[in-house]
Amino acid sequence: MIEDVIIIHLHELTLKGKNRSWFEKILINNLKDHLSKLPYKKIKILSGRILVTSINRDLWDEYQRVLKCVIGIRNFILMRRVSLDLKNIQKEALMATQALNITGSFRVSARRQNKNFKHNTNEINMIVGEFVQKNTGFNVNLGNPDINIIIEIVNNDAFIGVHKVDAYGGLPVGTSETALSLISSGIDSPVASFHMIKRGVKLDYIHFHSVPTTSKQSIFNVITILKILAQYQLNSKLYLFPLLDIQNKIMDKVDSKYWIILFRRAMIRISSEVARRNNYKVLISGENIGQVASQTLSNIVAVQDASNLPIIRPLSGYNKEDIVNDAQKIGTYDTSIEPYEDCCSYFVPPNPETKAHLDRIQNIEDKINLNSLIDTNLAKIEIKEISYE
Ligand code: ATP
Ligand code: MG
Repeated sequence: MIEDVIIIHLHELTLKGKNRSWFEKILINNLKDHLSKLPYKKIKILSGRILVTSINRDLWDEYQRVLKCVIGIRNFILMRRVSLDLKNIQKEALMATQALNITGSFRVSARRQNKNFKHNTNEINMIVGEFVQKNTGFNVNLGNPDINIIIEIVNNDAFIGVHKVDAYGGLPVGTSETALSLISSGIDSPVASFHMIKRGVKLDYIHFHSVPTTSKQSIFNVITILKILAQYQLNSKLYLFPLLDIQNKIMDKVDSKYWIILFRRAMIRISSEVARRNNYKVLISGENIGQVASQTLSNIVAVQDASNLPIIRPLSGYNKEDIVNDAQKIGTYDTSIEPYEDCCSYFVPPNPETKAHLDRIQNIEDKINLNSLIDTNLAKIEIKEISYE
């Protein structure tokens, strides 16, 4: 029986020993969710690969778009399954090559799980290569071919394809517990969030706004960004926290050089309380060492002090250029550069403190009774469910 399938190769799961089947199960469930709108018959494990059977080849672009975003996949290949016989393989290899409608060089890359098959991979490469060369006139180029004919021999089947797509790799979402990510509509925090999702961490998000003094644009932009991130993790929750009362109190009572550090500590204190109540293990932030005056090591220490939980900063060692590249790749960049009034940038004082002294800061907070104001405002949190559309 000839059948169109997608073969998926996994990333890192080989490293996981006994946990492997648990990781595979979560990845298969994720795949079922991601592929819910596309036709297929089964998703199953086949000798270390995942097989999506009876797919519709005409919708390959759609499968590609979806599968590229499934975390844990190293690559996937559109394949035709034929019964194990060299003639079948030759015929399929030729048809797949001709269907590409390009002229160029090619190579054959065979892999063989079934060691009982009478030809080894070198022989398969040679025999199929000769056949394709004879019938197309194309040259073989092992190093940098225009067409790579991929053949996998598994059990009593042969799979042949020419469309291989790389994905992000990482660990399936949901294999690494849950965290609360502090999200702004800037460039950094969406990228930081993506990198945690890529390590299997399931995220929910918290955003602080200063409505009505600032417009609702930052909220709309954050929601747009989270819908883009929902390509990778299909469902999440967004906590929206109105920060204005707290900011007004700070701006009213405290020297402007401390505003930023106090806003940040307030955000972190609130986030860590939300995390405690909802069982998130850690907080995630898009901070980057030294990028702006408020992100010195001293200030990171002062901010961390406001949290009972570790704050993970996936981007702390990145260069700005790398963050921008990532934002473009994952699709959040265009929304992130839209102008908006951020709850912090809107109130930026002329000379923010870059080396905050912790005891002085704690003193100020005690004096203006900040913690009780935070407690009162925790009741005003709004929750939105985000899902991929
Ligand atoms: P980003 O590009 O993510 O906005 P940034 O380079 O502008 O980051 P900051 O404004 O100093 O840097 O913010 C540092 C981090 O604090 C952000 O990456 C984000 O995790 C968190 N953060 C900042 N503003 C908000 C907000 N309004 N709501 C939630 N988290 C925020
Ligand atoms: Mg910002």
